[in-house]
Amino acid sequence: MSEATDESQIRQRDVAIDEIAARLGVRAERGRRFAELTSLRVGGSIDWVISPQNEGQAAAVVHALEEAGIGWRPLGSGSNVLADDGEHHYVVLSLKDLKGEVRFDGDLVQVSAGYSLPRLCVDVGRQGLSGIEDLGGIPGTVGGALWMNAGAYEHEIGKVTEIVRVARGGQVVEIPGSTVQWNYRHTSFAEGELLLGATLRLQPDDPEKILARMEAAKSRRMSTQPHGGRSAGCFFKNPPESIVGTGKIIDEMGMKGVRRGTAVVSPIHANFIVTEGENARAEDALALAEEIRERVKREHGIELEYEVELWRANEP
Ligand SMILES: Cc1cc2nc3c(=O)[nH]c(=O)nc-3n(C[C@H](O)[C@H](O)[C@H](O)COP(=O)(O)OP(=O)(O)OC[C@H]3O[C@@H](n4cnc5c(N)ncnc54)[C@H](O)[C@@H]3O)c2cc1C
Repeated sequence: MSEATDESQIRQRDVAIDEIAARLGVRAERGRRFAELTSLRVGGSIDWVISPQNEGQAAAVVHALEEAGIGWRPLGSGSNVLADDGEHHYVVLSLKDLKGEVRFDGDLVQVSAGYSLPRLCVDVGRQGLSGIEDLGGIPGTVGGALWMNAGAYEHEIGKVTEIVRVARGGQVVEIPGSTVQWNYRHTSFAEGELLLGATLRLQPDDPEKILARMEAAKSRRMSTQPHGGRSAGCFFKNPPESIVGTGKIIDEMGMKGVRRGTAVVSPIHANFIVTEGENARAEDALALAEEIRERVKREHGIELEYEVELWRANEP
């Protein structure tokens, strides 16, 4: 394809996005970078960020984008994404404004995808509802947690999810949580499925006891993980074939504190890569991650799988 055709296609796409944003009354911005939108604080430019404010609007936006043949990807708080340093030409659908109100109905709790997971944990704990208090220290949105079945200690979001609301054909559609496969940091949601919100079924308990358990889980986390730094949580999943966790394997290879450019293996938890400096680069974090994978493969015969999602500028 010639450059001229490329440019004219991009112009046509931009006109289409402007028209969709105006028609649906949704905020559409240009000139943002992944370095501003992800917790690792790295990653290149994004052509468009569109931020719907309610579930119906989000469903309508992705339908319109798909009808216009425009690629898009959903992003919550960006606490589990490593986007590369290139120019990302797809639309980022930011869910952070899709917060809505949490609604309580007995032991059922209805929440939208952009709501903060730590805030939800506090809200439900105060209401005397138990079942997600161990998730209180996981940064991110409810949508991000549902997408990868976030979990910590005794709790996983999938275990308490009664209904998931998804966008299909421009509409908000409810699907039973029991029809989703909730695996270890992975679910059966198809690529391109937009999660709009969920209804959780929790267990009544004494609010003081719930909040005490949440604080205990947070303290445990604070003593074993870097906090306040720029990370994406655990970089790799724990290998199913090993009784030893990935953090311990990397630690025993003496890699804590190893640095490649602006990326460092956390001296506190070896399965965390942290980035440093104003001009930190995704390239450094990726090179370090690949070096870890190669050594683990060579020395232990284990193929580490990424827990962090890698977003490449040339996909989708
Ligand atoms: C310090 C730290 C500690 C962490 N500890 C844990 C932990 O203990 N347990 C754990 O499970 N995780 C942990 N994480 C990882 C991360 O916080 C979780 O995965 C979180 O649920 C991601 O939510 P998010 O909103 O940031 O998702 P994002 O990072 O924005 O997105 C993650 C993935 O979900 C998809 N996605 C997001 N929203 C939607 C949506 N509405 N519809 C469809 N797809 C969507 C994105 O496209 C992407 O593929 C930690 C991260 C950090 C930085």
